[in-house]
Amino acid sequence: MKPLRIAVGGLSHETNTFASWHTELVDFEANGYFRGDELRSQAGTNTVVGGAIEAIDSDPSIELIPLIATSAIPGGFVTARAVNEIEGEIVAGLRISRPDAVVLDLHGAMVTELSDDGESETLARVRDIVGPNTPVVAVLDLHANVSQRMVDLASALIPYDTYPHVDNAERGREAVAIATRAARGEIAPVTALVKLPLLPPGPKQFSKVEPTKSIMARAFDLEATPGVINVGVTYSFPYADCPFPGMGVIVTTDGDRVLAERIGRELADFIWERREAFRPDVMTVEQAVHAAMSDPDGPIVLADLGDNPGGGSAGDGTALLWGLLDLGAPNAAFATLADPEVAAAAFAAGEGATIQVELGGKADDLHGFPIPVTAIVRSLSSGDFIYEGPMNSGVADTLGRTAVLACDGRYDNKVEVIVCERRVQALDAAIYRSQGIEPAEKKIIAVKSAVHFRSSFDSIAKRIIEVDTPGLTSVDFSRFPYRRLPRPIWPLDNI
Ligand SMILES: [Zn+2]
Repeated sequence: MKPLRIAVGGLSHETNTFASWHTELVDFEANGYFRGDELRSQAGTNTVVGGAIEAIDSDPSIELIPLIATSAIPGGFVTARAVNEIEGEIVAGLRISRPDAVVLDLHGAMVTELSDDGESETLARVRDIVGPNTPVVAVLDLHANVSQRMVDLASALIPYDTYPHVDNAERGREAVAIATRAARGEIAPVTALVKLPLLPPGPKQFSKVEPTKSIMARAFDLEATPGVINVGVTYSFPYADCPFPGMGVIVTTDGDRVLAERIGRELADFIWERREAFRPDVMTVEQAVHAAMSDPDGPIVLADLGDNPGGGSAGDGTALLWGLLDLGAPNAAFATLADPEVAAAAFAAGEGATIQVELGGKADDLHGFPIPVTAIVRSLSSGDFIYEGPMNSGVADTLGRTAVLACDGRYDNKVEVIVCERRVQALDAAIYRSQGIEPAEKKIIAVKSAVHFRSSFDSIAKRIIEVDTPGLTSVDFSRFPYRRLPRPIWPLDNI
């Protein structure tokens, strides 16, 4: 029997439309751009493409057709040039290979210069080539802003089930299984989307707390209904001023549209009743630093919610760092502060030198002011590291040129700050360890991350405090000048 040929590719970006800069082709190239057989380098990593390749390689009756896969760090609008180039390569690969099915790693909250609904454009271009009958299964991020057009163009949309996102490879394997069965005519997927006027702040989307814990448990129960292929929940990406934010329930069944719609509405009602539980428990910078300092235990992890580069913010926000320096936090470390200028100054001065710099707060006026500091350059490095996991396990990444600066605080305290060239979410303890800092030995650890850091730091942290800092990923949505968001929507509107 001829093997089934499944094409695998990806284009993933979470677009923060409030960011003042655009996301260019070079931002995708700098973050990992895998063409053709280079995709195989992702095998063994906890990524969608890694899981898809593993599933195909383990089944001799399927053959991998590698397209291209790329993603960029979340940020501003994706340029027309970037999206045309990347989609063009995906389409060219499909035109040559004519696969039996397609599996895509998309995000679901991409906004480009050409479209508010980026993924539906990608799917439309793929459909154009493969026609209406070839299965196209896409894995989406849990933070997708799903549109009906995306649902109509794909055969099935499979969102991650976890936050932190640790099931990426598993969803990649699931997508291959669905695509394979659909291509063989064993199933006929139909999908229903139920959207909710609900924009939950990030912290309570953590899989281990309410209401998310109950919501996903209910979703898994419903997924076990005979005839159901997948039940997914998208928690939406709130920092996109366009018509598509809002939670969604996506139900795929084997040919039964009525069942898909019924289950979708049932789960949507279950979520709606629990919306108040999404309100986050946050502290101000002062409250958080004082709480950490007065706690007899350690390490205490402080999450810099408002400046999470993983949600498209500047990564150079200084509000929490100011608190640590000025309130006298002892034995504290901070990861990461993206400031290429200060990294360059540290490299020019050399290890062991004392420098005086204006640290952070340069990208825009939303992330605090630059802080004048005197600092010793503890170490310099290329910033390369490999994620220890569970999230992104095995993936190689880089902070760019990186300096560890021991910065003088106001009360003879020193705060060790990892200053680097690139905006990288501090979600993995490997980032600290790659710079010679063992987070378990610190009293206070600050991370620019909202929830993802929990997958790595939960085992180290004696306590986690969520800090309401300003910035492009602030949990207080009333700080954003929305104009195009569908209204009313909770919690901006009292519904
Ligand atoms: Zn996400």
